[in-house]
Amino acid sequence: MKVLVINAGSSSIKYQLFEMPAGQVLARGIVGRIGETVSELSHTYNGNKHKTEVTAKDHEQAMTIILQALVDKKIGVIDTVTQIKAVGHRVVHGGEEFTGSMRIDEKVIASVEKYADLAPLHNPPNLVGIRAARHSLPEAVQVACFDTAFHATIPEVAFLYALPYEIYETYRVRRYGFHGTSHRYIARRAAAILGKGKYEINAITCHLGNGCSITAVKQGHSVDTSMGLTPLEGVVMGTRSGDFDPAILFYLNDKGYTVDDLNTMCNKKSGLLGISGKSNDMRNLSELAVGGDRRAQLAIDIFCYRIKKYIGAYTAVLDTLDAVIFTGGIGENAVDVRNTICTGLTQVGIQIDPEKNRAIVGCEGLVSTADSRVQVLVVPTNEEAAIANDTFELAGERTV
Ligand code: ADP
Repeated sequence: MKVLVINAGSSSIKYQLFEMPAGQVLARGIVGRIGETVSELSHTYNGNKHKTEVTAKDHEQAMTIILQALVDKKIGVIDTVTQIKAVGHRVVHGGEEFTGSMRIDEKVIASVEKYADLAPLHNPPNLVGIRAARHSLPEAVQVACFDTAFHATIPEVAFLYALPYEIYETYRVRRYGFHGTSHRYIARRAAAILGKGKYEINAITCHLGNGCSITAVKQGHSVDTSMGLTPLEGVVMGTRSGDFDPAILFYLNDKGYTVDDLNTMCNKKSGLLGISGKSNDMRNLSELAVGGDRRAQLAIDIFCYRIKKYIGAYTAVLDTLDAVIFTGGIGENAVDVRNTICTGLTQVGIQIDPEKNRAIVGCEGLVSTADSRVQVLVVPTNEEAAIANDTFELAGERTV
């Protein structure tokens, strides 16, 4: 069965066409700069890359361009779009309602619309992508995979903020968590690597990309995670601050910063970028730090320190800890960052092997010592594959 996975952002649609259940990627690509005078299509098929300028005034047109590329005589991989039997959509916020992936109907669409209030930058473009795909592929089963769904198992004691209870009752203000598809994928993959069932692993999963989050996984289920109502909470990220004293906002508001200024500051100008004053990109910062840039080094040090604190906290949350798992652009590639985070954690049973760690860049592998009580693993994330799997399973229900 051909399953198309769609990740629609405000100005781009990323796509991957899978052959399921084999999980083989037939083609992948992105239509970028949607809405601009000139948009771009980047399409990879059978190991070849095709880049071209296109006109995509809106997501509907972008969807048409993607489908045309997939059936094109030269760069296409299928004969007709009716071969696509199911489409899986990444949706960022599923509120408290969705505890797993769902087949999309009017009710699901109405809910995704409702939660746009909580994810104003993400849910609206996700919805536009869903509408465009439904319109272009009316026969295909459409499935929504929520970033929040894996965290639906977090207990009240961990998801509730110590604010007046009415704030939760009235506005549903609570910890939701994000990157759920990635945390679930790497926890399950690590369980398989360690010879455990998917509900047998206790782990701390570290998704470290531009956005970063840490999750405590108990018996395969998320029981706590660092991101909260929005992706701002938690560890230090590329441009987001992560945790800080909220009174800083009142203080700066008194000094003349508007709510908009503060929102932009915390989400777009803080984190690695804010501390270093130079870059949100770990690669750049590593180079700058090697060259003697003190603030670049400080940004990396604070980044690692905060993650270490979360690992300590989540070790306390879990009865036993089998594994710490790294993923995302930083987690998969930044050898020194992994080393700094894991060094000095012997009291919680974590012992990284510097040699093994150095050898694992952008690939899967074990980086702890042979006698480390807790295994440390690198598992490249693959959210698209996880979405394709869920979509295949849910689409299968109809045909059975
Ligand atoms: P996104 O969250 O946008 O998907 P990624 O998962 O691609 O982001 O992660 C981007 C981050 O990964 C950037 O900070 C980038 O510098 C970092 N990164 C990628 N490759 C390396 C590398 N070889 N060494 C260190 N950091 C890396």
